[in-house]
Amino acid sequence: MRKSPRSHHDSTLDDVLASRLARQHERHRYRRRRTTVGIGPRFQREGCEWLAFCSNDYLGLAGDPRLAEGLAEGARRFGTGGGASHLVCGHSEAHARLEARLAEWTGCQRALLFSSGYQANLGVFSALLGRGDYALHDRFNHASLLDGTRLAGARLMRFAHGDAKDCGQHLAMLDSARHKLVISDGVFSMDGDVADLAALAEQCSRHRAWLMVDDAHGFGVLGANGGGTRQSQGIDPAVVPVLVGTLGKALGTQGAFVAGSDALIEALIQFARPYVYTTSLSPALAWATLTSLDIVRDEPERRDHLFTLVERFRNGAVGLSAFGLHLMPSRTPIQPLVIGSTREGGDNAVAALKLASALEAAGIWCTAIRPPTVPAGTARLRITLSAAHDVADVDRLLEALHDCARRLGSAQESPT
Ligand code: PMP
Repeated sequence: MRKSPRSHHDSTLDDVLASRLARQHERHRYRRRRTTVGIGPRFQREGCEWLAFCSNDYLGLAGDPRLAEGLAEGARRFGTGGGASHLVCGHSEAHARLEARLAEWTGCQRALLFSSGYQANLGVFSALLGRGDYALHDRFNHASLLDGTRLAGARLMRFAHGDAKDCGQHLAMLDSARHKLVISDGVFSMDGDVADLAALAEQCSRHRAWLMVDDAHGFGVLGANGGGTRQSQGIDPAVVPVLVGTLGKALGTQGAFVAGSDALIEALIQFARPYVYTTSLSPALAWATLTSLDIVRDEPERRDHLFTLVERFRNGAVGLSAFGLHLMPSRTPIQPLVIGSTREGGDNAVAALKLASALEAAGIWCTAIRPPTVPAGTARLRITLSAAHDVADVDRLLEALHDCARRLGSAQESPT
C-alpha cells in the first residue's frame, strides 16, 4: 500500500532541517568548521601542516607565551570564570583594571567590557534605541550591528558604502525623527577599507545624529599606538560618542568593550540586556588582556612588520588580475581577492571555493567568503596578514596563488 504523502505539518524537525540544509548545499553556501591543532598561523589539520591566512590575530598575540602567563596568573588570582554577571558578583578587579586601561587607551571617560563584540553591539542598540528610532548603517556593516538594530526594534536604513554624502542625504529625510544613530565599521571586515570618520561625524553634527563606530579590525592595528581608526585619522574622542572595540582580534584574547562618556557607560550598565543577563567575561582573560595592551604599546615593530607584509603582498598580487583575481583597494591587513569581475554580479561562489581548495592542496588555508556574508557576485578569498607571518610566508602565498590561478584558468572563467 502506498503511503499517503505527509503534509508539512507532519514533518519531523529533522526532515525540515534536512531540506533546508540541502538547499544551502545547492546554493554553494554550506559552511564547514575545521578542527585545528597548534597555534596559528601554522596549524596542524587533518594530520597535515597548514599555513593560514584567514585569522584576525593581526599582531600574532594569540599564541604569545606572555599572554598565556597572564592568563594563568589571572586564573590563579581571580578564577577562570566570573561565576556570575557583572551586576551580581562577577565584576572583579581584573575587569575594573582592564576597563580603566581601555578608557585611558581610547581617551574616553570610561569603557565597559562585554563577552564578545557580537554582544557589545547587541548591547549598545538595546540600550540606546527603541521603536520609532532610526539606525542608519553603512551598507557593508558587520552582521552583529544589523542584528542589534533588529533586537532594539529600531528602523534600519542603509547608506551607500563609504559615502558620507549619501549618509547625509538619508539623515536629511529623518529630520523629525526622535533619535538617529549612524553606524559604521572603522575597518570593514570583508573589504579591509577604512571609514572616513570626520566626514561621517560632520553629517551627524549637521543633522543631530549620534555616531557609533565599530573598530573591531582597527584596534591594535591602526594608529601610532595601535589606538585604532580614530587615532589614525587624528579625530578627537568626543567626535565618536560610541566606540566599540574587540579583544579577540589584534589583542589576541577574547571579549569586547564599548568606550565613551560616563553617561553612556552608566546607561549600558542599566539598560543593555546583553550586558545585564550574562556571565562576565572570564577574569583570567581580562587579566591576560592587560598584558596584550602592554605589548601593543611597547612593541610598535609588530605593526611595522605587519604593514611591510601588506605592501609586499599587494605588490606581488598585482599580476593576479590577469587571471581574473582582483585585489581590493585596501591598505589594512585584510586583503580580499575578489574572484572574477566585481561589477558583473554573476555567481562566483563556486570559483572562490575552487581557488580555496586549490590553495589547500598547497598547504595554504584561506577561507572563501560567499554571499550572503558579501554581496552576490563578489565572492572572495579574504586574505588576512599577521605579524606572526614572515616574508617567506607571504612569498609562498603569492607563489601558490599565481600557480593555482594559472592552473584554474580563471581568466577564461572570468565574466569580464
Ligand atoms: N564587529 C565586527 C566589525 C566584526 O568583524 C566582528 C567579528 N568578526 C564583530 C563585531 C564580532 O566580534 P566578536 O568576534 O568578538 O564577537
